[in-house]
Parts: sequence; structure tokens; C-alpha cells
Amino acid sequence: MYENGRSNMKIIDILKKPEFGLSFEVFPPKKETGYESVRLATEEIARLKPSFMSVTYGAGGGTSAYTLNIGKNIKDKYGVPLLAHLTCISSDREKVRAQIEAMKEAGIENVMALRGDIPAEMSDSDRSSWDYHYAIELVRQLKESGKDFCIGGACYPEVHPESVNQREDIRHLKEKVEAGVEFLTTQMVFDNSLFFTFLYKLREAGVTVPVIPGIMPITNGNQVERAIKLSGAFMPQRFRAIVDRFGNDPVAMKQAGIIYAADQIIDLYANGITNVHVYSMNKPDVAAGIQKSLADVMRSDVQTCEYT
Ligand code: FAD
Repeated sequence: MYENGRSNMKIIDILKKPEFGLSFEVFPPKKETGYESVRLATEEIARLKPSFMSVTYGAGGGTSAYTLNIGKNIKDKYGVPLLAHLTCISSDREKVRAQIEAMKEAGIENVMALRGDIPAEMSDSDRSSWDYHYAIELVRQLKESGKDFCIGGACYPEVHPESVNQREDIRHLKEKVEAGVEFLTTQMVFDNSLFFTFLYKLREAGVTVPVIPGIMPITNGNQVERAIKLSGAFMPQRFRAIVDRFGNDPVAMKQAGIIYAADQIIDLYANGITNVHVYSMNKPDVAAGIQKSLADVMRSDVQTCEYT
């Protein structure tokens, strides 16, 4: 049913390939009752044969088994390489150790090592009593786990909200990479120039690992506010106009959102970025729409055209 051995590929080896790669992100159900519909949606996305799929990790860790089961299903049944997310801030070292063991057992090769947002109830407590403070501590634990996981990390072209400035944010990011992060995925960006400026600053600071831009297709007017609130991302006027115009027309908004995301991806590819991560949010129709819009572009072997 799938290419032999592809399911066990390390993401870093996928990123080294010269051809264009599109990856999709899905999230696990919050409750058992939602499991079946999420499984079906993620399988539909897996059938599109993305370069890899990532499965997020519920902030409190309460859905950790679903992250593994949904991810293992995609990997084993469809041969799609898996990137399993793992957060640490609201957990303790023993629980994280157990999850790492479960990932080893499930044959997972790639882990996105995240801190997670600091829960409101922790913010008043004594920081010295926390088991984790930053993702780098999880990266170190993964490196000491006895398995050679390929480790990914998060990064923020528009600066992580807790950082005092971008220089400090990049300094900590560099430390995270030096601790063992092999590639980075960005927070969603709606304006590619922010990604390119960030990439330039990373390279200038000596961060040399691959950086995958994260693209979020906004296909529903109500999603906009939530996406901006969660990510703090800048929404360009060009996109605001689309939402203002089509936000109340679900069919038109979906098409406009897919085309906007596809347009961003084409611009990234045209400017030398060969891997893009799509926050596809368990929406097979959106993932398929983007892939379809890019079909010929993705097939192109990108010969530089000489203008005459
Ligand atoms: P860190 O790398 O620890 O950075 C957090 C902040 O601390 C930054 O401001 C950084 O500059 C600063 N910092 C780092 N080290 C130090 C230090 N030594 N001293 C002082 N400051 C320091 N959340 C989930 O709950 N589940 C998910 O599955 C999930 N997936 C994500 C995937 C991607 C691609 C992205 C971009 C985010 C994801 N998130 C997820 C959200 C993420 O957990 C939050 O953004 C969180 O607030 C930060 O996580 P981090 O791993 O980037 O943390």
C-alpha cells in the first residue's frame, strides 16, 4: 500500500531531498467520542501522500494516547512519515519519560519537542518547583532517552510572546538547536516577507538547520480572530480584505482561503523554500484543495528561467 521504508524516515532526511515537499498537521480528539471522526479525517489526509504528517499534543497531556494512536495509524497503515508532538510544561519528568518510552515502543522516529503554553494556574506558583521551564529541557531528555530521535523545534518569525525582543528569542532558539534540534517549524505566517526576514536573521545568528514555514489556510471567517489571538500573527491587508468580503459566505471563503495559502506556498517555493508545513487542522478537503492547486508546481523540477 505504501513505499517501503518511507514510514520510518527521519524528517531531516526528507528535508534534504531536492524535490518540493508539503507536510500536513492534524490534531488528536479531545475525547474518546471524537476519536473515530478524527481517525477518518487523518486517514483521508494521509491518502494524499504528504511528505510527512505531524500530530499535535494536547496542552495538558491528557490526550497523549490519542496523539500516539492517531499518528501510529497514519504511519503504519499509509506509510506516511510521522512527526509526533510532545509538550512538557504541565507535566513531570516521570510522565514525560513514560511518554517517550511509549513513543519508542510505537516505532516513532521524529518528535517535535515543545514546551507548551504556561497554564494560567501555574503562573502564580513557584517556578523553581516546576520540572520544566523551556523546551530545551525536553530536547535534552530526548537526547538522553537511548533512542536517536530526529528532534524538531518551534520558532516564531514574529517573536514568541514571552520574549523581550527578537535577539533574545533567537539566542534561546540557537541554544535549543545546539542541544539537539535538527529542524525548525515556524508559527503560522500570513506574510512571507516576515518569514524571509526571520530566516535571514537566523542564518546571520548562525542557526543553520532547515526551517520549515508554517502556513495556515483560513477557510472560515470565524477562524481569523482565533488564529490571530493564538499566534499573534500579522494579518496583511490583502487577506483582511478577503475575509471582509467573503467571511460570511462559507463556500467562497473556503476557496479564497485555499487559494491564498497556495499563493503563499508558490511564492515560498519560487524563492527557494522546498518544504512547507500546512496547518491543515483535520480538514481533508482543505489539504486536498491546496495540493490540487499546486499539482503542476510541485511536479516542476524548477529550472531557473532566463528572461529574454
Ligand atoms: P521554548 O522554545 O521553550 O520558548 C518559549 C519562550 O521561552 C520563548 O520566548 C523563548 O525565547 C524563551 N526561552 C527559551 N529558553 C530560555 C531561557 N533559557 N531563558 C529565558 N527564556 C528562554 N503547543 C501545544 O500545546 N501542543 C502542540 O502540539 C504544539 N505544537 C506547536 C507546533 C509549532 C510549529 C509551534 C510554532 C507551536 C506549537 N505549540 C504547541 C505551541 C507552543 O507550545 C507554545 O508556543 C509555547 O508557548 C512555546 O513553546 P516552545 O517549544 O517554542 O518553547
